[in-house]
Amino acid sequence: MTVLQMEKLSNFINGEWVDVPRSTAVINPATGEELLQVPLSSAEDVDKAVEAAKKAQKEWALVPAPQRAEVLYRIGNLLKEHKERLARLLTMENGKVLEEARGEVQEGIDMAFYMAGEGRRLFGQTTPAELKDKFAMSQRAPVGVVGIITPWNFPIAIATWKSFPAIVAGNAVVWKPATETPIMAYELAKICEEAGLPKGVLNVVFGTGSEVGNRMVEHEDIRVISFTGSNEVGRNVAAACGRQLKKVSLEMGGKNAVIVMDDADLDLAVEGIIWSAFGTSGQRCTACSRVIVHEAVKEKLQEKLLTAMEQLTIGNGLDESNRVGPIINKAGLEKIKKYIEIGKEEGAKLLAGGYELTEGELKNGFYFAPTLFTDVTPDMRIAQEEIFGPVISLISVKSFEEAIEVNNSVSYGLSSSIFTRDVNRVFKAQRDLDTGIVYVNAGTTGAEIHLPFGGTKGTGNGHRDSGVQALDVFTEWKAVYVDF
Ligand code: GLU
Repeated sequence: MTVLQMEKLSNFINGEWVDVPRSTAVINPATGEELLQVPLSSAEDVDKAVEAAKKAQKEWALVPAPQRAEVLYRIGNLLKEHKERLARLLTMENGKVLEEARGEVQEGIDMAFYMAGEGRRLFGQTTPAELKDKFAMSQRAPVGVVGIITPWNFPIAIATWKSFPAIVAGNAVVWKPATETPIMAYELAKICEEAGLPKGVLNVVFGTGSEVGNRMVEHEDIRVISFTGSNEVGRNVAAACGRQLKKVSLEMGGKNAVIVMDDADLDLAVEGIIWSAFGTSGQRCTACSRVIVHEAVKEKLQEKLLTAMEQLTIGNGLDESNRVGPIINKAGLEKIKKYIEIGKEEGAKLLAGGYELTEGELKNGFYFAPTLFTDVTPDMRIAQEEIFGPVISLISVKSFEEAIEVNNSVSYGLSSSIFTRDVNRVFKAQRDLDTGIVYVNAGTTGAEIHLPFGGTKGTGNGHRDSGVQALDVFTEWKAVYVDF
């Protein structure tokens, strides 16, 4: 079966759709069927895209920002018009259930309008100068050509978090989408073309990290790399960028926890945990994979969690009765299975799930049962390492202080959450939880696009996706003095 009435996608370079000889299959993770072929580009293809971007950027930077924003408004309207179709395609290539896919496309729509608004702000500062008859000010300047490398778990939302602020700020983009989910990239490029984004301002080069990604990172005319992906790859990207004094923005996952205190509304906590642990089958950087629970409510919470997990329907996300979709691919599935074995060997107790689902129609896709480990200690590997699947580890603690300590005892720092009714604990937690995002009485997922997204420690390097802070990644500050 093919989607989009085509057998194979093409790169989008300088406003042209360019065929590439080598390609690989894109598989629907819900059914195992091939959707189409995605190009495997070479370093030379990257060079061509950078060349086009460099030329286009010079012109684009001269277009007044409010006019650049007009294009983003048109992109937002087109995304809106195509929302349902895009959501269905997203479910087909990524597996997430339709309701979540619609939410993801909506994030792209919101980001387009939000960043379009920034086209009329892009504020600098004026300040009194030290000397008489002199005027001093600062302003944002585009950096030039930016490289964005995006993951398969949010194939359209994360692409918009990165490309829209870059574009409104007057940069040109070379984009490497994940090979697992290229259809959203194709669709977004088509929409940008239709919206009248000038040729060469957005270029898409499909391919692997080792060929396309490496060349982007090494290319001296790409001045910024914004990367979302694994910690291992991110560290290499950062090292290569460091060697060339290239600016780099990294978002590399999490080991996020929900803390449930003894005074929490347990039903609310279960709702938050279920949604943030099993949404996108746990394949979110922000997914809850640890539950740190006060010992006084541990048994009760466990019981309620098990009941809620039994009600989760698993299957193809296009069928709206399903709540949990598949894992992205076989490698993802194998990694989760490996962690189940590790958890058992470490002495954790498996209360639910822990196996691949292969019954009936599920056998052709990559499905894993929602899983709950209990009696987990904070130092176990299943409580420290990112699994990227529907697996929760329950860790019991004796106090609020211990809960905070356990939360902070991992090498990541993306998202955390606390369920409590005590206002003092709320304020202490938001201060002491060492993560870029903190939720109170809600799960660990569901970040909004107008606030900065990113984390501390192994999650990232302090720069941010989304929010106005995203503009800092894609602009340089320029100080200007005028003597008169
Ligand atoms: N937008 C997602 C959320 O807040 C996170 C994106 C990610 O996991 O990379 O749940």
